[in-house]
Amino acid sequence: MTVTGPIWRDQLAVAERAVLGRSDDGLAGARPDVLVVGGGIVGVTTAFACAEAGLGEVLLIETGRLGAGATGGATGLLIPEPHQWSDPEPFVDLERASLERWRDLQQALPGGVGLVELDWLGLAPHDSGFAAHQPRDVEWLNPGQVAQLVPGLTRPMEGALIRRQARVNPLRAVARLAARLPAVATGVAATAVDISGDRVVSVATSSGHISPGVVVFATGQPPVLDGLPLHIPSDRVKGHLLVTQQTDVTLPGIVAPVATQIENGQLLAGGTFDVGDESPAVQPAVIDAITAGLAAVLPRLGGVGVAYQWCCFRPRHPDRRPVIDKVPGLVNAWLTSGHFRTGILNAPATAAVLSRWIAQGVPPTDARSWSATRFGAR
Ligand SMILES: Cc1cc2nc3c(=O)[nH]c(=O)nc-3n(C[C@H](O)[C@H](O)[C@H](O)COP(=O)(O)OP(=O)(O)OC[C@H]3O[C@@H](n4cnc5c(N)ncnc54)[C@H](O)[C@@H]3O)c2cc1C
Repeated sequence: MTVTGPIWRDQLAVAERAVLGRSDDGLAGARPDVLVVGGGIVGVTTAFACAEAGLGEVLLIETGRLGAGATGGATGLLIPEPHQWSDPEPFVDLERASLERWRDLQQALPGGVGLVELDWLGLAPHDSGFAAHQPRDVEWLNPGQVAQLVPGLTRPMEGALIRRQARVNPLRAVARLAARLPAVATGVAATAVDISGDRVVSVATSSGHISPGVVVFATGQPPVLDGLPLHIPSDRVKGHLLVTQQTDVTLPGIVAPVATQIENGQLLAGGTFDVGDESPAVQPAVIDAITAGLAAVLPRLGGVGVAYQWCCFRPRHPDRRPVIDKVPGLVNAWLTSGHFRTGILNAPATAAVLSRWIAQGVPPTDARSWSATRFGAR
């Protein structure tokens, strides 16, 4: 039987699941020092960083359950180094810094955040299958070495091995972090803001008004709230994922573009870019294409059963980089959006940027890269 929905929730302990629906009392009339709107990985890590930085009372609100958006459907890979082939250096630097922060969180939280260290192996029929420049920390493997790591490939392939990348169950990370937040209210939507001069003085929510000292919008896509004059171009890109039934094929970590070894002998595959598909439904043809792709590379996976299948949407700005900025024209409101395909990875670094900016008034050195106005829109 195939479950339609992410595997992540089923991997959680009962107490972790309960945290995803955490809702503390006393919201009406609240006056937190920091209000974070949005309970995905970026909002939760931001609230955590603000609380850690001693910014006073921190309240996070989320319209559904924590992790209900893109976060709960992500693959959860934390792989900065392979992005050297696709992303500019400042972006890879942010990703590297963020993976280090994930490791710090893993150490700092009792029980960690569920970070799993693992290697990344990129397969190419020949080494010119990779871009010309040679990223650091790559071991180039010949077909014999690749075959030792991944026996049974359809044809000989060169490989690029990068050690010490990582992954998380994104919902477990959210639950572990959220359990340590001072105040969380799920099932509460921000609907409007009241602005006086250059300050947000009040945020209207489905559970009453909140008067925050500072507000951070971490709503996946840019926030759409009455009274908030924001027009940042964005869209979203659907992706499908599946988890196989238990198989006797064991992969040495992440084998791109094939699959990632996860718990219980299961493989996680997919991460398609289904541009233009706005339907929230899983498309059986896409799932079939993913399983056919598995069998094409590793014939032993032919006919493997699908235990979980799901899809979700990546929030995206036109240049595929996130916004991490103050809301233009306001002195006490920040936003971060459009984390596209690396929001799980980049959440802790984003949170660190925001909490430092709020605490010390210091924007990041590369602020222009993440600016809300770089698209020419206000
Ligand atoms: C198929 C797929 C695979 C992916 N794989 C990876 C990966 O391997 N590694 C990686 O780093 N990233 C990956 N991503 C990307 C990652 O999922 C996103 O970049 C990340 O989850 C974005 O997090 P977020 O907190 O910004 O947004 P979200 O998770 O969407 O959270 C935003 C939250 O804000 C809430 N919200 C919105 N409006 C309001 C409001 N008005 N009031 C209250 N709450 C509100 C929403 O309900 C939502 O829960 C993948 C994405 C997909 C779709």
